[in-house]
Amino acid sequence: MTTYLFPPPAVQSLPIRGKTERFPINRIFCVGRNYHAHAVEMGKPVDKSAERPFYFTKSPQTLVQSGATVAYPPGTNNYHFEMELVLAVGKAGFRVSADKAHEVIYGYAAGLDMTRRDLQLVARDKGRPWDLGKDIEEGSVCSEIVPMEGQIVDQGAIALEVNGATQQSSDVAKLIWNIREIIADLSQFYHLQPGDLIYTGTPEGVGAVVAGDRITGRVEGVAEIALAVGPAE
Ligand code: MN
Repeated sequence: MTTYLFPPPAVQSLPIRGKTERFPINRIFCVGRNYHAHAVEMGKPVDKSAERPFYFTKSPQTLVQSGATVAYPPGTNNYHFEMELVLAVGKAGFRVSADKAHEVIYGYAAGLDMTRRDLQLVARDKGRPWDLGKDIEEGSVCSEIVPMEGQIVDQGAIALEVNGATQQSSDVAKLIWNIREIIADLSQFYHLQPGDLIYTGTPEGVGAVVAGDRITGRVEGVAEIALAVGPAE
């Protein structure tokens, strides 16, 4: 029997709608700049004909469940929300073709890819990794997983409010790289595994929160999400 010097980290997991079992998390992938209007607001328009999608990762230990109150994180003065459709992988897949991409899908969720925008932009503009800007403790927020095996979500309103005022309002139909294309492309680089989450990108309207703010959001036909931001530690 293996023994450890100290207790190993707990498996991160999310509730599944309609089930008592929880969805164990393997990895968290995020797609960068996947709505044109958001790419433009970041000053980096995307030409799909000449580019491929790009990705960053957030460690599973950054996951926090919808409904939580999180501390305003250290090291930033510009903590941003990014409302996203999240894809939950339920089957292994490597070099998956777009026409078979639905086969690896377990379901979907609503997520927040919280971002230290000040640190992310410094890193971006200096050609440094994005980790300090993106891989944030309690910075990967996710709703329950909604089982939708084999289904492709290709439309549906995606929206976010801060303290009840709408900040983001778009439609999943505006994804630059759609669900099939993301799975096909990402699986060229990784052996996708059950438990992988893919945050598919945020629409325009991203902005900062401060202590005391309450975020609400939803992806039509999938799920809702909520987060409260507490004071800094
Ligand atoms: Mn994002």
